[in-house]
Amino acid sequence: KISYYNGEFKRDNEISVDYNDRAFYFGDGVYEVVRVYDNEFFTLEEHMDRLVRSASEIEINGLDREKLIDIITELKEQNSIKNGSIYIQVSRGINPRNHAYPAGAEPVILAYMNEMARPSHQMDNGVEVITANDYRWLKCHVKSLNLLANVMEKERAVRAGAHETLLHRDGVVTEGSSTNVFIVSDGVLRTHPANHLILNGITRQEVLKIAEAQGLEYAEKAFTLEELKSADEVFITSTTQEVTPVSHVDGEKVGDGAKGRITQKIQEEFDQRIHELNLV
Ligand code: PLP
Repeated sequence: KISYYNGEFKRDNEISVDYNDRAFYFGDGVYEVVRVYDNEFFTLEEHMDRLVRSASEIEINGLDREKLIDIITELKEQNSIKNGSIYIQVSRGINPRNHAYPAGAEPVILAYMNEMARPSHQMDNGVEVITANDYRWLKCHVKSLNLLANVMEKERAVRAGAHETLLHRDGVVTEGSSTNVFIVSDGVLRTHPANHLILNGITRQEVLKIAEAQGLEYAEKAFTLEELKSADEVFITSTTQEVTPVSHVDGEKVGDGAKGRITQKIQEEFDQRIHELNLV
């Protein structure tokens, strides 16, 4: 496998990461995960825009968006992977450990590609989730490398035999540890508004576009844990999990536990958008 680190494409086993990379000490950087379906990027522009925006939110300025696209395009070409995901991160640079920003350090880019199949089983059968307190910082809209709370909350789900932890602030549901969350109640699709309390997922935005295009009733309006638990349908979204139904919340069935009608409709439209990639 060919990957990229700090200016060079190399075989994976020939890459050595500098231990003074600030990503390593502080999680001082931002990242993206982009899906490749049948050799084509999905929503590349949106991911690259968010990467540059996340970087500027943490004062890593002047990133060359075209260069970032060139790097991942080259990765896609050098690795013969038809269906996969590309991880790309930008750190503040390499400098001996010191909290304050290093003067003159150049951002360091790391990128690699993995093979990845679509999560068909979970998209059909749904997943179980648990809920927990959201104690993250107040810049959740930044796709930061600093994922300690997310990691610990995902582990909580794993230990409970569940798939994801949905987070709430004082009973108001924000998002999952690595996903956005939607409910359907009385025919209305709802998700937390895109503010500093959530990452505005690209998949979330696709779902909202689908809702708009399909004439579904929807609102970017937060909901409570009680509303989550009494919803007719619940699903989570992300680049790798796509649109995944939730069958149980904290051990209680959502509806009758099977995939809901609106979830199914959105999945079909999402699928359509993936397939359209190769028709143009
Ligand atoms: N929320 C969090 C905290 C995430 O880490 C992610 C993705 O990894 C998402 C939401 C979903 O975002 P996207 O649909 O852009 O992958």
